[in-house]
Order: sequence, then C-alpha cells, then structure tokens
Amino acid sequence: MSAHLANAMDSPTAPPQKPEVIIIGRPNVGKSTLFNRLVGKKLALVDDQPGVTRDRRMGDAEIAGMSFTVVDTAGWEDEDAETLPGRMRAQTEVSIEGADAAMFVIDARAGLTPLDEEIARWLRSEEIPVVLVANKAEGKAGESGVLESYSLGLGDPVALSAEHGEGVADLFGALWPIIGAKSEAAEAAAEFAASEDEEKPLGPLKLAIVGRPNAGKSTLINRLLGEDRLLTGPEAGITRDSIAVDWKWTDPRTGDVRDIHLVDTAGMRKKRNVTEKLEKLSVADARRAIDFAEVVVLLLDATQGLEHQDLKIADMVLQEGRALMVAINKWDVAEDASKLFNGVRAALDDGLAQVRGLPLFAVSAKTGKGLDAMLGAAFEIRESWSKRVPTAALNRWFDDALEANPPPAPGGRRVKLRYITQAGTRPPRFVIFGTRLESLPKSYERYLVNGIRSKLGFEAVPVRVVLKSPK
Ligand code: GDP
Ligand code: GDP
Repeated sequence: MSAHLANAMDSPTAPPQKPEVIIIGRPNVGKSTLFNRLVGKKLALVDDQPGVTRDRRMGDAEIAGMSFTVVDTAGWEDEDAETLPGRMRAQTEVSIEGADAAMFVIDARAGLTPLDEEIARWLRSEEIPVVLVANKAEGKAGESGVLESYSLGLGDPVALSAEHGEGVADLFGALWPIIGAKSEAAEAAAEFAASEDEEKPLGPLKLAIVGRPNAGKSTLINRLLGEDRLLTGPEAGITRDSIAVDWKWTDPRTGDVRDIHLVDTAGMRKKRNVTEKLEKLSVADARRAIDFAEVVVLLLDATQGLEHQDLKIADMVLQEGRALMVAINKWDVAEDASKLFNGVRAALDDGLAQVRGLPLFAVSAKTGKGLDAMLGAAFEIRESWSKRVPTAALNRWFDDALEANPPPAPGGRRVKLRYITQAGTRPPRFVIFGTRLESLPKSYERYLVNGIRSKLGFEAVPVRVVLKSPK
C-alpha cells in the first residue's frame, strides 16, 4: 500500500476541514471590523481556542456560500507599533502555518506606512498565498491608497470597506481561487456526516412507469393493481395531472408483503385528444414522474423495439439521478424474441454512456408474465441506489484500483489521488481527493467510475463522482 493511502486510511473519520484564512495587518487598519463583517451574525460562535493563544479569535465566515474559518490577529501587536513587533510576528508565524491564505489589510485612507512595507516583505517570504486588502476604501479618500498598495508586490489589491460592507464580492473573487476547492470539500464532508442520519429504513417503494404512448403503461398499472381496482386520485401534493396509488405487493419468492407507491403521470390526460404532441408529452410525463419516483421503469413496446425517443427518456431519468429499469412489454406478441431482447440490450449499452447492464425485463401486461420479477428487481435496485459503502472498504477498493492501474503522469507531473469518500446516496455520490487533478485524463476518471460500479455493487445505478483538491 502506498504511503499516502495508508495515511488516509488510518484516519478515515478525519473529514477535510474548512479552509482557514488569517487576517494580518498593523494596528487600526480595520482587522477586527473585517473579522466581524465576515463572521456576521455568527459572532456569538467565536471561540477562544484553549491551548492555542489567549487572544486568538476565530470565527465561522461565509461569503456567497463559501465557508471558511477566519482568524483575527488584532491585539497581537501590543504597544510597539513602529517596528514589526516580535510578539506579533512570532504568534502570526505560528498561525500562518495552519492557514490556507492570509488577508493582509492596509488602511487606504492613511496610505502605506513603513510597518505595512515591513509586513509585506515578510509575507512575500512566506509560503502562504496573500490577498491584499485595501480597507476604508469607501468614497474618494481611499483611491490613492488603493493605487499605492500595488507597490507592495502582493498583486492586485481588493478595495474594501469593512465598515460599510463594500467590496465583499471582490474579496470573494480573490479568495475563491485559493480556498474555493477546499471549502467545497469540507462542505461535501459535512454533507456526508449529515446524510448518515438519513439512513432510516426505506419507506414504500416510489415507482413510476414511463414510456411512449401505447407502450402499455395503463394496461400494466391496472394489471399490477388487479383488474377490480380503479386508479383513483389525484392525491394532494402531487402534480395535478398525475395519479398516485399505494398498494401492497406480495413477493412470490419470499412471501414478503411490500409497500409500493405507484405514480402514473399519463393516466389523467390519457383520454384527452392529443395526437401531435404525444411524443413530447411522454418526455414531460417522465420528467414529472422523476420528481417523486425512486425507481423509474421505462416501458418499451415489443412490436416497436427501442427508438430514439426511449433513449432520450432513459437518459433524462439517469441525468436526474434516478434508478432506471427497462421492461419490454407485449412479450406475448413479440416476434423473434431473443433477437429483440439482445438487440435492445446492445442498444441500451451503446446509447447510454452513463450506465451499463441496466436491468432489462421481458413482460406482458396482458398475461402478467415477468411482472413479479420486475418488481422484485425494482426493490433491489433501490437498495443499491440508497446504499452507503463504509469509507474503509471504499478506500481498500480505491487503493487496489490505483495499484492495478496507476494514474498517468502527463508531462512527468504525477497526479496524486489521495482518498475517496461517499458524499451521499440516492443517487450514490463520491468525492475523490487529490492534487493536480486538472491533469487527470477523462479516461482515468471513467476507469474509476466503472470500478465503483462493478466492484462496489452499483451496477446500473447512476453514480456521481467529483474530483477535489483540498487546497
Ligand atoms: P484593527 O486594530 O486592525 O482591528 O482595526 P479596527 O477594526 O479596530 O478598526 C480601527 C478603526 O477603523 C475603527 O475606528 C473602525 O471603525 C475604523 N474602520 C474599520 N473599517 C473601516 C472602513 O471600512 N472605513 C472606515 N472609514 N473606517 C473603518
Ligand atoms: P399507454 O398509452 O402506454 O398507457 O398504453 P395502453 O395501456 O393504453 O396500451 C396501448 C395498447 O397496447 C392497448 O391496445 C393495449 O391493450 C395494448 N397492450 C398493452 N399491454 C399489452 C400486452 O402486454 N400485450 C399485448 N398484446 N397488448 C398490450
């Protein structure tokens, strides 16, 4: 096992932390005001970290959805304001170690002072990315100070008024390239933690049946519910032209009684006289079904085969992250059945790049053939769609996958893939952390996605994978 993976696996519970941004500057430039501005209402949450330094102020900051920890160094300078005081420097150096970026604040009204220049010189010699902030820049009085600050050699200044809240969007623009990815990674990890709570027992299977007109959707639904049962609806809270019905299905293989919530979006307008736009409507119906279904069955007509329109519907279901199954209906009148079945299988695999081996069933709404197998499979596919793979098992697979086929080194620069977490379920979502990810070829990404599908039991389920650099 390679060292970096060993590390990741030793601490599978240590999620990526929020990026940390430290505010640096001589006294009175507005550091605390900026700190308060960024922390906003959450000021009450500011905690003095015991064991760090007594006057270290940290807070949860957020700009336009980008979260980070902000550290205020105000008060570290003490009396000796005309040289860079040793105490400030020593403490700031410690804090810089753990920070992802520094905001170096100057006072645009006062202009640059020798102390500003000294801090700038020191910051240029540090590894840390620096965002230069020209504060108190509201109105005309700050203009020359903003221009002057270019001379510090720290790039373009962000003209800001911490007191008036101006220029915060520009600050976001300057920080995002430095900490945006890490902020998102931490967010994904937080979502991961939150979604652990989500894992309660699955309720009734939310199932929708979609397909082109005349595929046999209504016939199938009536068959499933039993001839004597009428579709009633619409239910409150569901789209006006949809019908939903709850019923209990007994699995003949196990005798288990299982709850199904079935949605028939086409049913209501079935008898309406719409001819020209029917093709379009079947797509609109599928879109609606997707909104409340966990598993979608795309129904084909054995006498028609698979057409472009069917692939379009299938693709949309997968794009929306729903579990998809395909059933070829009217099997009782199918000609050359095995050729038809294999032809549809091949066309699905070719036509839908995001999944291979979708569950495919031959059914007959007329005779009932294949319907129990189809429903049983719908419950199974929902299981994998909702499944969470423990981080340790996930990284064991990841390690093997990287060893079997190491990521390429384009231009000699090796892409480092560090570890993987499952960020969510329904559909399954994964985040892979690493560096130089921009150089990772798409083909390698596909290799990993295919591995997740085939090795971790996510066949036929739409799987989302995001690559992230922590820094
Ligand atoms: P620190 O010592 O760097 O933490 O600075 P403070 O945040 O305590 O601010 C010093 C002084 O500058 C205070 O009187 C603030 O009200 C003032 N100040 C802070 N930000 C601004 C600003 O954007 N514009 C103006 N005009 N004054 C500001
Ligand atoms: P929908 O537009 O998808 O709801 O399709 P319908 O349920 O209205 O069915 C269209 C036509 O196909 C009707 O004439 C049905 O009787 C017929 N049909 C539906 N299922 C089957 C089947 O399994 N076998 C045969 N032979 N015909 C079927």
